[in-house]
Amino acid sequence: MDNWPLYLLLVLAIGIGWWLGRRERLKSLKPVGSNYYQGLSHLLNEMPDRAVTPFVEDLEVTRDTLETHLALGSLLRRRGELEKAVVVHENILATAKLEIDAVLNVQLELARDYLLAGLLDRAESLLMVLIQKSGRVRTESLKLMLEIYEQEKEWQGAIEMGQFLAVGDGTEKYESAISHYYCEMAESLLQHGKLAQSREMIREAIGHDANNARVSLVLGRIELELGNYSDAIRVLRRIYDQDAVYVVESLDMLKLAYSANAAPGSIDGANREVFKQYLLQCLKRTSSISIVLVIAELIEIEQDAEAGAKFIANHLKLNPTVRGLTQLIDLHIDKARGVSRQNLLILQSFAEALIADKAAYRCQRCGFGGTKMRWHCPSCKRWGSIEPIFGLEGE
Ligand SMILES: [Zn+2]
Repeated sequence: MDNWPLYLLLVLAIGIGWWLGRRERLKSLKPVGSNYYQGLSHLLNEMPDRAVTPFVEDLEVTRDTLETHLALGSLLRRRGELEKAVVVHENILATAKLEIDAVLNVQLELARDYLLAGLLDRAESLLMVLIQKSGRVRTESLKLMLEIYEQEKEWQGAIEMGQFLAVGDGTEKYESAISHYYCEMAESLLQHGKLAQSREMIREAIGHDANNARVSLVLGRIELELGNYSDAIRVLRRIYDQDAVYVVESLDMLKLAYSANAAPGSIDGANREVFKQYLLQCLKRTSSISIVLVIAELIEIEQDAEAGAKFIANHLKLNPTVRGLTQLIDLHIDKARGVSRQNLLILQSFAEALIADKAAYRCQRCGFGGTKMRWHCPSCKRWGSIEPIFGLEGE
């Protein structure tokens, strides 16, 4: 400890060296190709929490330094430091004398900050001005406005923005989204018992995307509510041609419609056969265990439980799924006694644990997985990209 003055000097020297080096880096910060963002990122890592404001004030916004300020703003946003990104972008607008195009560009960046920070009102009032402009600024602003309307579930506004965007390369994507906006409105009206208005919305939804299977699911529900069972069946069977992966979503409604005029838990012979043939046809297109289980139920009514179980077992040989296995165990467990019953119970709990909390649906675009069906991917924001998972742990 006798050498403490020496240690103190050494620490001071390191500190001063770091401070000088930092000053030099700040002064010489200019765009230098691919290392530029890396440099900025490095600088931000070293920067204490409150240092952004002095930094943006120190480096005057000129035509030469504008890129640096913009890069810093977008880097901060990417890192989730939204308040700091707002400081950077607001500072540019407040202090710089820029050409009109550059101003619009910075305003767009600021709107992005507000949107991500959840300041929707501020984002909206900026964007309402920007969508009146032209070119890239208008297109990007329309996309951001669309995001706001989606978040706020203001579907009429979303439709309006979507219609502006549904041109050129974006036609298919936005037409499909608009169809889903109408479905959202139709579902909400349906929940409130407004069936005629709901049907109107569905008509619009079909106009924008006739292959949207969700349209048929909503329309099927409307027909069921009205007691139009044969119409419900006709509408729901369209899903086979629209997008057969969603047939599984229609099974409960089809079961209701086909057995509507029969005794509870039953289904009359002619309907049973028609329904079974349709499901067998669907099974050829999508090997879904849910479809197999409904067919097995129909076979059980027609013949007996053993015939139903045999149908499931035959399907599982070719397309093994954990859900099919648990169903098969279920069918055998009642008849089993003693040790074999114990073993089946153990097997059943193993199989159930295997699929518990596993994703049953997956986005075909970004891979997001969830346990319930959603029409809007919460991760990549695409409409109609989530499908049931097929395979060992899924359908
Ligand atoms: Zn996605």
